[in-house]
Amino acid sequence: MPRLPRIKECDVIDCFYNTDNLCHAPAITVGSPCPKCDTYLSSSEHGKPADMGQVGACHEDDCRFNHELTCHAQEIVVGHHQRHADCFTYSSEEGKGELSGLA
Ligand code: SF4
Repeated sequence: MPRLPRIKECDVIDCFYNTDNLCHAPAITVGSPCPKCDTYLSSSEHGKPADMGQVGACHEDDCRFNHELTCHAQEIVVGHHQRHADCFTYSSEEGKGELSGLA
């Protein structure tokens, strides 16, 4: 199984899993049709179930980093988009072939 990509930064500070602009969810799910963080939970309380947030699954299959609904980026950045959280590392499928062979 490939190493899960870490979330190196997330500025969605009203999320339960966010402390100091860092995600602490054990494994987020990124959804579709936009690369939305489906794990985001607006909350005045904050928890740290994991040291560092990681990407568990991603349904954004037109992203160049996506293979079999799994993210193969080294790390991602999450941030505000409208009233939700999005993966800002999303990149369209163009050039996807160049990434074949990624673990
Ligand atoms: S970089 Fe692409 S494959 Fe990885 S979580 Fe973001 S949208 Fe999904």
